Amino acid sequence: MTREREIGICEHCGKEFGYYLIHNGFNDSAYAYCDSCSYSALLDYLSTTAQRVHLQPCERISEDVERFLKPCVCGGSFRADATPRCPHCRGLISPILAATYIERNAAGTAGGWRWQRNWDDDYSIVIENLYVSNWWKDEQSN
Ligand SMILES: [Zn+2]
Ligand SMILES: [Zn+2]
Repeated sequence: MTREREIGICEHCGKEFGYYLIHNGFNDSAYAYCDSCSYSALLDYLSTTAQRVHLQPCERISEDVERFLKPCVCGGSFRADATPRCPHCRGLISPILAATYIERNAAGTAGGWRWQRNWDDDYSIVIENLYVSNWWKDEQSN
């Protein structure tokens, strides 16, 4: 995945981090965040397991999907209620405060686009390119 890297600023430690947004409606995917670090899991709606567990695309996973996912590379878990964390201090990033830099960086803002201001709608965020794809327990991940 090659995407333009934008710069955000952590509201807790003041350090910068790179990120990009993914519109999960464009590629029929769902996503989840790790409960301990900055990783996100991107899940293709058409994969075998996704179909079997009735994954709902274009949003964050629901709780019943959690148990089918492998643990994060850090040892944490991808959870339905986990939200993105700063890669430096692991503080929780507020989707409201993030609007400041997300809307400033986004080309669409001039045309009226607004950041969704939550972590469970169409857009997910990938921080410092830390993500795993199709992270199902019983599938080979890519
Ligand atoms: Zn921080
Ligand atoms: Zn993790």
